[in-house]
Order: sequence, then structure tokens, then C-alpha cells
Amino acid sequence: MAIRNVRELGDEVLRKKSREVKEITPRIRELIDDMFETMYEKDGVGLAAPQVGILKRIVVIDTGEEPLLMINPRILETRDSQTGGEGCLSVPGKVGTVTRPNYVRAEAYDENLERFEVEGTELLARAICHELDHLEGVMYVDKVEGELYDVTADQDDEEDEEDI
Ligand code: ZN
Repeated sequence: MAIRNVRELGDEVLRKKSREVKEITPRIRELIDDMFETMYEKDGVGLAAPQVGILKRIVVIDTGEEPLLMINPRILETRDSQTGGEGCLSVPGKVGTVTRPNYVRAEAYDENLERFEVEGTELLARAICHELDHLEGVMYVDKVEGELYDVTADQDDEEDEEDI
């Protein structure tokens, strides 16, 4: 396992569309392990493969419940909305206000390419939407309401302003 370099806003790889994963190779397994390790190391709630320069439809999320791996994810249903602070490991030190669904139901494939569904509300719903956007080359800064602002030391600990 290794910590991968997280690409930052302005890197064109973040603006490209990721490709479907068709088989789980040893390289993909290593990528998944590295993505989890990188996300935990950087204190993020989620990480998408393009953020480490790999244009594959793989996302890892951990909102503090349990690690969630989503391969070839797709949103099936959204409901309600939430408006709150959002950050991203690819936009370090910044936060912006983004409105997202407050409930998401999605399908994805696990490390054995078996399909499963996941439901999330609040932070998990936000994280799923944010990470799936990365697979389309969309960044939260495209959706931000008002200005991006700097994260201060105090705000860094707030629950509602996680780097996802
Ligand atoms: Zn992000």
C-alpha cells in the first residue's frame, strides 16, 4: 500500500470522464487499497480515482460508519435537499456552500464486481454525490453558491465541512 499524490484543481485529469471497470486486476486491487490509505492519511471522507490520476470509475468513502467501496457507481434515486459546507482533497484549505440531495440511493459493484445498493442521508448522501461527480469531471467548485472561503484552524474540526 502507498499514499498516492492527490491531484489539485487545475490539473486537467480532474476534468476528464472516468471509464468503467470491467475486471478486477491486481493493479485495481492495489489502487483501491492505496485510495483508502490516501483518504485516511489526508483525513478525507471520500476519494475518487481521478483524484489520484486514474480515470476509472472507483470511489472510496468513509463517513465514520464503515469503509465504502463503490465501483461503477450509479445514483438510482435522490430525495430532499441539504445546503452546507463542502470541501475536497483536490481543493485544499477551501470550503464552499453546496446544495445536494439529503437522501441518495445508489448501486455499485464491490471488489468482486458483485452489485449492491447503498442508501445514504446527510453526509453520506453528500459524499456519494460529490465523489460520483468526480467520475464525470465535475468539481464541487462548479456548484458552489457564493465564494469559496479559507478553512481556518477552528473550522477544520467542524463536522459539516469535511473534505470529500
Ligand atoms: Zn472531491
